[in-house]
Amino acid sequence: MTIEIRQFACLADNYGYLIRDRETGDVAAIDTPDARAINTQLDAAGWRLTHILNTHHHWDHVGGNLALKDKWGCQIIGPKAEAEQIPGLDVAVGDGDVVMLGASKAMVYDTPGHTSGHIIFYFPEDGAAFVGDTIFAMGCGRLFEGTPAQMWASLSKIAALPAQTKLYCAHEYTQANAAFALSVDPANAQLQSRAHEVDRLRAEGTPTIPTDVAIELRTNPFLRAGEPELQAALGMSGVNAVDVFAETRRRKDNF
Ligand code: ZN
Ligand code: FE
Repeated sequence: MTIEIRQFACLADNYGYLIRDRETGDVAAIDTPDARAINTQLDAAGWRLTHILNTHHHWDHVGGNLALKDKWGCQIIGPKAEAEQIPGLDVAVGDGDVVMLGASKAMVYDTPGHTSGHIIFYFPEDGAAFVGDTIFAMGCGRLFEGTPAQMWASLSKIAALPAQTKLYCAHEYTQANAAFALSVDPANAQLQSRAHEVDRLRAEGTPTIPTDVAIELRTNPFLRAGEPELQAALGMSGVNAVDVFAETRRRKDNF
């Protein structure tokens, strides 16, 4: 592993992440939901913040940018397509770009849908992807700015990462997502057992994030729009995956 990852809960249901390149000691915050919480974590770890990697422009992802830049003089890297909306942005990146945190390499993918310029950061040597609000455990981000076709393509990029890739989502929405997933995919035995496991973890206050690609492929209805079982459960057998995805997302919005 080239990076160390420090995960912490903040705000109502966000996860913050600090990652440290083992070789150089460079440290990045993945998004800045809460500058105070991030500083507390940095102090506890004895780490110095050198970078901020932003996934998209929502306040619970960039709200701490300026306070942290002021304190640490860190470099802010964020989505090219939302450059004007990222406070303090220094380096704008997009699909296919490589970001170096010290000696650790992250690949940038455009994942529009939740917002029009959303990006994710994938560290191939660590098998870790920081996915912001694109995918959640058994869920996906709301389509505030993008189309179902865009979001389906974005989710398909994540689904195509190696199966063991860990997905570091920005919110603990898992329990509510499981309840919805069961409503559209009730016969999925792996989903049923996962939902029970999630209830157990949450009852003891344990995070359900990170998740991984393999378990999402089997239990996340938003990745299963092309699967015959989910289509049948929705009464949409043979319908194209984008339309099945759009209907699934529409139902979640009204769940
Ligand atoms: Zn968001
Ligand atoms: Fe968010």
